[in-house]
This record gives sequence, C-alpha cells and structure tokens, in this order.
Amino acid sequence: PVQNNPNTTLITPTAPLAANTHGGRAKCLQRLVRLDMPVPRTVALSFEAVHRIAEGELPDIAAILGEFPPETLLCVRPSSEDPDWGGPGAVLNIGMNDARHREVCASLGAAAAAALYLRFVQAYAIHVARLDPDLFDEVSEDPAEGLAETLQAYEAETDEPFPQDPKEQLAGVLRSMARAWEGTSARLLRQAKGAPTDAGLGLVVQEMIPGLGQGECGSGVLQLVNSATGQPQVTGRYLSQSQGRDALGAGAAALYLARDARGPSLEEAAPEAFAALKAHAALMRQKLRAEMQVEFVIESGHVHILDGVRVARSSRAAVRIAVQLARDGIITPQEAVMRVDPHALTELLHRQVAPDARRDVLARGIAASPGAASGRIVFTSAEAQAAASRREACILVRRETSPEDIRGMHAAAGVLTERGGITSHAAVIGRGLGLPCIVGASTLKFNKGKKTLTAPDGRVFRDGDIITIDGSSGQVLVGQPDMLEATLDDAFQELMGWADDARDIGIRANADSPADAQTAANFDAQGIGLCRTEHMFFDPGRMTVMREMIFAQSPSGRAAALERLLPMQREDFTQLFRIMQGKPVCIRLFDPPLHEFLPATRTGQRELAEALDLPVSDVVRRIEAMEEYNPMLGLRGVRLGVTVPEIYDMQARAIFEATLAASKDGAPVVPEIMIPLVSARREVELVKARIDAVAAAVQAEQKRRFDFRLGVMVETPRACLRAAEFAPMTSFMSFGTNDLTQMTYGLSRDDAGRFMSDYVNQGVFPEDPFHVLDTDGVGELLKLGAERGRASNPGITLSICGEHGGNPESIAFCRSVGFDYVSCSPFRVPVARLAAAQLAI
Ligand code: PEP
Ligand code: MG
Repeated sequence: PVQNNPNTTLITPTAPLAANTHGGRAKCLQRLVRLDMPVPRTVALSFEAVHRIAEGELPDIAAILGEFPPETLLCVRPSSEDPDWGGPGAVLNIGMNDARHREVCASLGAAAAAALYLRFVQAYAIHVARLDPDLFDEVSEDPAEGLAETLQAYEAETDEPFPQDPKEQLAGVLRSMARAWEGTSARLLRQAKGAPTDAGLGLVVQEMIPGLGQGECGSGVLQLVNSATGQPQVTGRYLSQSQGRDALGAGAAALYLARDARGPSLEEAAPEAFAALKAHAALMRQKLRAEMQVEFVIESGHVHILDGVRVARSSRAAVRIAVQLARDGIITPQEAVMRVDPHALTELLHRQVAPDARRDVLARGIAASPGAASGRIVFTSAEAQAAASRREACILVRRETSPEDIRGMHAAAGVLTERGGITSHAAVIGRGLGLPCIVGASTLKFNKGKKTLTAPDGRVFRDGDIITIDGSSGQVLVGQPDMLEATLDDAFQELMGWADDARDIGIRANADSPADAQTAANFDAQGIGLCRTEHMFFDPGRMTVMREMIFAQSPSGRAAALERLLPMQREDFTQLFRIMQGKPVCIRLFDPPLHEFLPATRTGQRELAEALDLPVSDVVRRIEAMEEYNPMLGLRGVRLGVTVPEIYDMQARAIFEATLAASKDGAPVVPEIMIPLVSARREVELVKARIDAVAAAVQAEQKRRFDFRLGVMVETPRACLRAAEFAPMTSFMSFGTNDLTQMTYGLSRDDAGRFMSDYVNQGVFPEDPFHVLDTDGVGELLKLGAERGRASNPGITLSICGEHGGNPESIAFCRSVGFDYVSCSPFRVPVARLAAAQLAI
C-alpha cells in the first residue's frame, strides 16, 4: 500500500504533511481531512517523488490506483510550496475510456458522459501527447459529436488509438506535469515571483467528483469576506454542471452564491449545500487560522471540498482580515501584526489608482512620494497657485524644484520632475506634505518655452492637459483613471496599537511646519526627530526678509533683518511645541547654502533690487560673489553657524522664547537643538558656547528656567570617525544618512537619479542607496559612529533622521546597532511603526 512510502502517501487524519516536502495543497488537504471535512480520497506525491518522475522513474502506479475503488475517475492537481509560484494546470477525469463512457452514459446521461470524456481527451492530447491545441478549435459544440471528432483527430495525429488503460493514462499525466515544472519558462516564471531555484512541486491524485449529472451538480469557490475591503460578505462563483475552474472562466454563465440583486443564486438553488459550505468555510477560518477561499464541488446536492487557499486580498482587506481574526481570538494580536506587509500600509494612507483601472502609461520615473493624483499640467509655481485659486487640480511639472517652488507645491495635487533622485528637493518636500511625487522622469522632454511635454513615444502634452501621476509606482499616466480613497479605519488603528505594544525602537517624524507636526501627531509619532528650519523661510513674505538678511552689508543691517525673522520663528516653534504636547521636538539649525535663497531669474533679481532699493547690477554682483562651485560641500550647515553666527543666535533665541511660551500652559517643554553637518570638534565647541550664552540671556531676561538638549547631526564621514570627540559635549547624535550616503559614495543626491536605474539594472548597486540604507558601507560608518559615541558618552541618544528612517530594511539595521529611535516623513510613520513591531516579535 502507498501509506508506507513517504513519497507517495494516502492523506489520512493522523499523518500531517509539510508544505516544504509535499506542497501547500497537500498540507492543507491533510488538515481538512483531520477536520473531518468531505474531502475526496487523495494520494499525495512528494517533491522528491515528482522530481524522480521528471527524471523518468515512475512510482508504483498500480499501488496508487489501488488506493481508490475500482473505476473511480481521478484528477491530478499541482501542490507547490507557495501557491503563488504556480504550477501546471490540473488534469481532470483520468480513467475515462470507451468502457467508462458507456457506463457513465447510463448513470449520469449522455451529455455528461461525453463532456467528461471530451475534457480528458483534450487535456491528455495537449499536455501528454503534446498535440497542437489548435487541432481542437473546430470541433462541434455538441458534446457527443465533439468527442467523436476529438478522438478521431487524436488517432490521426498520433497514429495510435486513445489510451484506454487508466495506468497508462495516469502515468502519462504525472510525467507531463512533473516535466512541465522543470521546464525553463516555468522556472523563470516562478523565480520572478520569488521562488528559490530548487523549488519543488508536489502533486495530489484525487478521486474525481464530476460536478455533472442529475440533481444539483456543479463547482465553484466561496469565501466569507470581500477581497477588496476585508468586510464580512459571502462571495464567490458557482456554475451548475461544471468542473475545475469553469465557474471562474470569463463569460461563464455562473450563478452567484448568495441571494442578491444580480441574478439566480446557489443559495436559492441548493440552500442546504450553501449552508454547509458557509459552515465549512467558517470552520476552516477557525482551525486553519486564516481567511480561506473554499474550492468545492456539489454532487446531487452534496458538498465536497477540493481545496482551501488564502483569500486574495487588497492591502486594505489584509489589515481588516488580520485584525478581525485577532478580535475573534483565532490568532494573537502579535500574529495579526506579523501578517500585514508594512510596505502595503502606504497604500492605505494615500489615494491610489484603482487596481482595475486602465493605465495608459506615458512615462516612468522614480516613485518618490506615494499616492496618486490627477490634474492639469502646469509648468510654473505661479500657474499652480492660480489653478488652486480656481479650485482646479493641477500637476506641477518642473525640470527640478527649488525652494522657490514651495508655494506651487503646496498648491498642486502632485509634482513631476525630470531630474532628481529619492532625496532631491521635490521628493523630500513631497513626502513631507504627503503629496504624490515622481522625480527623475528623464525620458520626458520638457520644453519650458513652448510649454510642452513630449513622451518617449512622441505624444505631446500641453499645459492644461490632464495627466495622473502614481507616486507609488512611478508611472505617469494619460488622463484621469479611477481612484481608491485613503482609509484609516478602526481596523487600521487597532493594528497600529498592537504594533506599538510590541515595538522596542522609537518612531519620530520629520516635520517642518505645524501642518506636518499635526500629521505626525495624528499618526502617533513619538516626537519630531528633525525640523528643517530653512523650510520655514520659504513663505514669500519671509523670503524677502531672509534675502535682506543675506544681503545685509553691515552687522547692524543683518541684526535688523534677523530681528524681524525672530518673532516668525518663535511663533513656528511655539506651535510645534503645542501640537506635540510635551513630546520631544528636535530642531535643526539652519543648514543649506545661503545662496539657495537668492533669486535665480532676471525677474526675481529685479524684484529683489526693488525691495532692497539697490541697482540690479549690485544684486547680481552679490549673487555671483556668493556662488560656489560645489554648494553642497560648501558654506552650509555648521559652517554658516561658525562664520555668520548671528543666524544661529536668532534661532536659539526663538527656540528658547517659544519653550517658555509653550511651557506656560502645558507640560514643561525640553527642546532639542541640533547642529548640522559637523565634522570637527571645534565647530561644536563654538556653536555650543554661543547657544549656552543665549540660553542664559533668555533665562535672565524672563527670570524663568528651562532645560534643553544640544546634539549634533552626524552626516559627514569624519563626524562618524571622530564621534568620540563630539559625544561628551552633546546629549544626542542623529545620523543624517542622506548627506552621509552622498558623502560616503561621493555621489550627488540631486543628480544620481539620472543614472541610478542604469546602476541598479546592471547590478552595480543592489538598490538605490538613497532609498535603502547601504548597510555594508554607510552602515559601517553608522556602526563606528554609534560605538565611538557611546564609548565616550554612554547615556547619549542615537537616532537616524535621513529618508532611510521610514524604510523597513533600514529600520532593521538601526535596531540591530541599538539606535533609540528612527525619524521619517510623517506619512511613513505608520509603516515604520509596523515594521519596527515585526522586528521585535
Ligand atoms: C540628511 O542629510 O540625512 C538629512 C536628514 O538632512 P537633509 O536631508 O536636510 O540634508
Ligand atoms: Mg543633511
């Protein structure tokens, strides 16, 4: 008997089968048999057995047949380890031959008998005898005539009669299915879905329940939830007088399962069978601890279960299904947390192009900020603002964005740039605002003068034309496809709560404005890990004062401009502190090169000249004098703090005065002040001395005390190497991995987008290092910096605030080196919370 052979096993209630030896289907069927479900008798062939079949070594076919009552029809179905890896199609009705055909005519009727035989002959002809499927295109619609023609065609092509011996039939089917799995195209296909090179195939040989005949007969699938929403709803398809996957075929005149408005239903046709199916599905959910789709056959009103597979699900449904299983006590909350892919959460937080919408892709770029948006093309920020005032959605299309585009970005529904990478200005701002954004769409040709956008296929788009950007996939689409709205429902909130219970690394948000901070608070960020203060100056009113400050010829002129900026900053910080309600807020002092704030265009320069009451030539000369060959490596960050210290003095004062203002009516605020781009110990000493002096002055003036924490941003390789020198002077070190990646590779974060896809496609980099932390190189520096910092200041707080902070793989690294928290864009906070929880479980 086959029971004694582990490679060819009759499925019984007592002998469990493993997915990695016999495949998912065999494992599931065994569990269903153990649950006493009406599963047809089944023999499972292991990966090993199937591999041997492919090599030409057949198992004992007579013994397999011996497990079934004589003259039973059989089917063979694939059982790969993961159903997603596919496998050869099932072959049904094995055992049909002329003699059986006559018997079935008598028992089930001529039509049913012919249909059963015809199906088997065609499958055998195509898969085993390898005849051209076209041969059967012309056969008669009438089953009996079709059968006769098919048998004739078989004989004519093979010069042999159709095999009548069930042993020969079964052997042929097993061999063809085993070999199909080992073929090159099947191998490539499953590897593309993540299967390992040596993935095995199991097969199950199962008693065939025909689904044809007298009384209510048919086949179908049923599940208890809606695959799109995850809400309870009995759905599926059923087709009377059908077999296999007939009910799922396009155009099949399937019955719906439950009674509803759409037409006749199984519930009406066979209420008992319908009730039994629902009970089976509920039992599977309970015992297999997953939401399952039941594949079934009905034979004269009796239900048979052929298989159970995990219900296909959208991201939204995945969350609700996992949460509901935990609410029902079927799985633990931790298991629910483990069952949702953190990457998929992003889809819930943003509008999406509907999965079934038609996509007319005009170009692709880097998916820089998730979510989808449709709108009319505009080429300037001013036009974006004009469109917004008309309440018209627009997509701002720019070669690249600069601080001057901030207003336009606020006004636009989405942003598309030709240049730039994942940490370019447009990408960073887009993620901060939750604004869909695609950067580096370099195959698009912009013509700013003519206001056109030319796609690689030659199509030309003008301003006013409607396009859609899908910032989740990087696709730029023509027109306005259907969308799915964002959902932050009760299931989502509950899952996040469980994630927080499990998590052991903190999650903060990068937030530059009160609106960002509010988003961060809504997503339960544990504080602000990076406030980029320069973003607070992008407002046009402030920009002018900022420019006056930059242009000031004398210390007193500069002091006057800073005096005007002070209350604005103080107000910003007060609001941030209030919104965060005592949670930590880390404010980074001014970082970018000053000249980024100067007008680049002739018109802008003229306007500035007017505002400053200076000749344009003076303004242009000053701008030229400030120009740097390599601004990202020039006068920026702490270097400004050292050479133009008044700016940091003003910012420190604004922070301290806001601290006192916000502490008045709430919990005491302890601000964190962060110095950017340090590389030498003396830089920290100089800035620290001045900040301490400002703190003392504010405390003396207001006769009130406050605490604050001073820290450094570690974003140069030298800062990592010399961390031991800085650490004792600071309370925290936050690794700015955008600049650190740029400087470690010597790779411009603003230009790398142009060739990054070539680099990734050719395997130079496994991934864009600005997107997924390069743990081998940049990570090595992080580790060194953390170790050296901790060695000289054991109490120091360590964190990361580059864009990598929201990436699950990078969070795993940060946790492994013992960081206290990660900080990421507000919209990535939920993703980070879930990813971090999964690491801790
Ligand atoms: C960084 O460099 O990683 C960082 C967070 O700062 P920014 O992106 O503002 O340069
Ligand atoms: Mg930086």
